[in-house]
Amino acid sequence: MKKLKSWAGNVTWRPKIVHRPRDEQEIAEIVTRVAESGDRLKAVGSGLSWSDINEVEGQHLLLLDWMRTIDVQADARRVRVQGGAVMSDIQRTLTEHRLALDNIGSILTQTAAGYTGTGTHGSGTPLLSTCIEEMRLVDGSGRVRELSPSSEPEIFSAARVHLGCLASLRRSRSVVAMPSISRSGERSSRSIEPLLIWGEP
Ligand SMILES: Cc1cc2nc3c(=O)[nH]c(=O)nc-3n(C[C@H](O)[C@H](O)[C@H](O)COP(=O)(O)OP(=O)(O)OC[C@H]3O[C@@H](n4cnc5c(N)ncnc54)[C@H](O)[C@@H]3O)c2cc1C
Repeated sequence: MKKLKSWAGNVTWRPKIVHRPRDEQEIAEIVTRVAESGDRLKAVGSGLSWSDINEVEGQHLLLLDWMRTIDVQADARRVRVQGGAVMSDIQRTLTEHRLALDNIGSILTQTAAGYTGTGTHGSGTPLLSTCIEEMRLVDGSGRVRELSPSSEPEIFSAARVHLGCLASLRRSRSVVAMPSISRSGERSSRSIEPLLIWGEP
């Protein structure tokens, strides 16, 4: 049986079944099946969280490591990523477009979904989670939902920093907005309007 170990090695769980969906439809099918069976399912990112927020003992584990598309809309200064995208890849891709995230943590091996869902932050503001503009997710019944401040605003707000309470998974992409960076790596004098998007690229 596959073991899930946190990055620090302080917690280990044995999920019953590990799922590695390739697209949103597969996620929805898995979630629907698991919900109908009465079992539980947990999406896990890079496993950096050291608490029981990733607890998946005897449950279904959902890995999104095949879903890490990063789509930069350079003119709009937005990036749309899938939930399994790794923060260092997002940062590197943005740099190629002379863009950057506004506020990042001390390490960047987290996934976009895990990073924003836990309210991960660096030493400044704004919190990256608050820069999310839209999200697309599969809810606990297998239904695909588009969330934004104007569409289902309360769920949108809660989903941005869900602390592991998002029923199953969000499949996604997100975004983050970012100030442009100069050649020296300094921020430009004016930050851009933040935004982040989760959904199908
Ligand atoms: C060495 C180290 C340094 C750190 N530095 C910082 C720092 O500078 N600033 C800071 O704020 N934090 C910091 N942290 C905390 C860490 O950044 C967060 O725990 C991390 O961002 C979580 O990302 P992850 O991809 O590892 O998610 P995980 O830990 O794998 O998951 C976190 C939560 O998100 C949920 N989740 C993951 N993916 C999905 C998905 N696709 N859909 C729905 N739910 C999902 C999981 O179920 C879980 O509840 C640090 C941690 C370590 C070990």
